[in-house]
Amino acid sequence: LYNQVQDLKAGSIRVYCRVRPFLSGQTNVQSTVDYIGENGNLMIVHPHKPGKDARKVFNFNKVFATSCTQEQIYDDTQPLIRSVLDGYNVCIFAYGQTGSGKTYTMSGPDLNTEETWGVNYRALRDLFQITKKRADVIKYQVGVQMIEIYNEQVRDLLVYIRNNSQLNGLNVPDASLIRVSSTQDVLDLMRIGHRNRAVGATALNERSSRSHSILTVHVYGKELISGSVLKGCLHLVDLAGSERVDKSEAVGERLKEAQHINRSLSALGDVIYALAQKSQHVPYRNSKLTQVLQDSLGGHAKTLMFVHINPDVNAIGETISTLKFAERVA
Ligand code: ADP
Ligand code: MG
Repeated sequence: LYNQVQDLKAGSIRVYCRVRPFLSGQTNVQSTVDYIGENGNLMIVHPHKPGKDARKVFNFNKVFATSCTQEQIYDDTQPLIRSVLDGYNVCIFAYGQTGSGKTYTMSGPDLNTEETWGVNYRALRDLFQITKKRADVIKYQVGVQMIEIYNEQVRDLLVYIRNNSQLNGLNVPDASLIRVSSTQDVLDLMRIGHRNRAVGATALNERSSRSHSILTVHVYGKELISGSVLKGCLHLVDLAGSERVDKSEAVGERLKEAQHINRSLSALGDVIYALAQKSQHVPYRNSKLTQVLQDSLGGHAKTLMFVHINPDVNAIGETISTLKFAERVA
């Protein structure tokens, strides 16, 4: 079922769906996932709709069932990530309601356990391994940036670290770009970024569910014989929770946050949709998120969206709206 797929063609978009398992303690909970097919289809059963209206099928490039491991997810993404070393720009997004497993996919449940590392650590580990293997042919430099977008404001999460790289960075001219040469360097930066993210927030979880976090890996390679240069970058994006906030309940700050999130997620959906349709006009300017990623969305860039769902019956409303969002861009 999880045989490795071919690398994505430049300029194309792939959408994967990952179903979060029930967490410990959630025994005998009814699942809304009725069936997962081998060809990327997923059947959802609505708990409160009768007869044939209860079942709906959604189609993606692939669906990862609850039993799927972090390693299997990475195996599938690996060719795409490796293409960054050949000079491609790649964006990987984690989309879904809060609690659906976005951070689990991107970072993993905890930094200290290698078996459950998410896509971002595995990607960097892999990139370093390959740059070492190719060291006789191409000399690479790798640098990272970490930013957060909260209420349409960009915050540099590595702000206290001195810039020490000649690489060109994101469309955020003043965000620190730190040169790294090992997985350990990256882990150290992640810890700093994580700490900085928590500053000023009542609880880290609260904040992290309402902001987009972007880890960008810049790669610069110089072929030793020909002297030719290549540049690629990889954006690993843990999006803000996609849940709709009840307008009658949310007020003040909470309402403002919710509106910013809704607007930026729809702007992202619109950009990806326009790219998928090969539309002449791509509306990058409608949100900070799409502005920041503009150079890496479309053109020869490659995009992968992981949409996450929580199989709990109580999440059915959000599950359906997540799957509809995803199907539109697929
Ligand atoms: P989100 O970032 O979307 O809010 P999290 O990644 O924090 O969600 O996941 C919510 C909870 O579910 C966490 O306790 C996380 O460890 C757990 N979880 C998510 N996905 C998985 C998975 N595939 N396997 C095991 N536990 C998971
Ligand atoms: Mg999260």
